[in-house]
Amino acid sequence: MTLPSIPKHYDNRLLWHSRIPEKVSIFMWRLFNNALPLPLNLQKMNISLAPKCPFCPDVDTMEHIFWRCRMVYPTWQWFGRTLEVYDQTNLLELVQHWWSRKSSLKSLAFSIPAAICWFAWKTRNAALFSGTCCRPDKFQWEVQIFLISMYHMRAGKLLGIESLLLRRLGLM
Ligand SMILES: [Zn+2]
Repeated sequence: MTLPSIPKHYDNRLLWHSRIPEKVSIFMWRLFNNALPLPLNLQKMNISLAPKCPFCPDVDTMEHIFWRCRMVYPTWQWFGRTLEVYDQTNLLELVQHWWSRKSSLKSLAFSIPAAICWFAWKTRNAALFSGTCCRPDKFQWEVQIFLISMYHMRAGKLLGIESLLLRRLGLM
């Protein structure tokens, strides 16, 4: 069980995109700096939390919670397939790969990975601490609703290409 190595030279200015709510940017910064209260990090502080995913028998690592879990992975796949963004070797590489598509995807290159990670964290915590159930299709729908709210708020500022992409993703 190992944590993925944190890339030292990622461009963290990309975390602070104007379309992403500040609370989500702060969360992404913590994710990229391995500063979330994940079971492995809590163990280092002598706080014991069963390192098991609330949705499947797998171990609750960063890679699993935010990417590989069967609750979350279909949503990455759906957006990735629609926008032709493909899997990478680990979660942080994947997020950076999304960011690298900023010239063609515009702000969706930032807001989609941020929205998926944000909801993966919220959904996992709700299941772990409140026993709230979820399903992969409901998870995807919640991510879509969140993205719709992000873009609807500033619809007047949308670029033509963004409107086109949002229609393809069922977000407009
Ligand atoms: Zn899982």
